[in-house]
Amino acid sequence: MPPFYWLMPKDQRHNNWVLYSEDVGRTPAVRLRDRYADLACTRCHKLDEDLALDRGIAEDVRIRSRSDFVVTSEGFVAVSARLQDVLEQRSVSAVRFLALPDVRYRLMRPVRRVAVDRDTCGVDFLRPCPDCGRFRETCALPVRDSLRLSTEELLIAAPDCPLENVRGRREFFLASEAVVSVMKHAKVSGLEYHRLK
Ligand SMILES: [Zn+2]
Repeated sequence: MPPFYWLMPKDQRHNNWVLYSEDVGRTPAVRLRDRYADLACTRCHKLDEDLALDRGIAEDVRIRSRSDFVVTSEGFVAVSARLQDVLEQRSVSAVRFLALPDVRYRLMRPVRRVAVDRDTCGVDFLRPCPDCGRFRETCALPVRDSLRLSTEELLIAAPDCPLENVRGRREFFLASEAVVSVMKHAKVSGLEYHRLK
């Protein structure tokens, strides 16, 4: 099997929110936007991110960055219009691009996910919510042998296991060597390539 790589964001200077809004002058500073309020679990406050995105994205959402690859504070991956072009020109599979009001960026969303063997993946799933079952947080990424990776040459995909931060599902994408080569050639900014172990 050829190598695969995690697409890992570099350190980011700004918080960027999509489903939440942040205002340092109020308490709490970070709040779920009203339009999604009924979707949130009353105990852990997490929500189904796909259902929320289907409702649409608020007009004032902006991505404060100049990088091609950005992870939002709740855990979405946002990519520049340029990076979308780079990937679509090569017909990279298993992801789609969701427009944002900030026309410089779109969200990269998984179309299908790579199956993961939960027993051997090596991820620590911590503190499931008694009401909705969502984990509060997870530690580590699934190890390579637990992933059922396809042999498509040009693949970007997300693993099918819940990787969570305290605000929501944290999307991690992995890429085939050919995709990494395309991205390096295009000098895509804002990320590092970590070989799957
Ligand atoms: Zn919950």
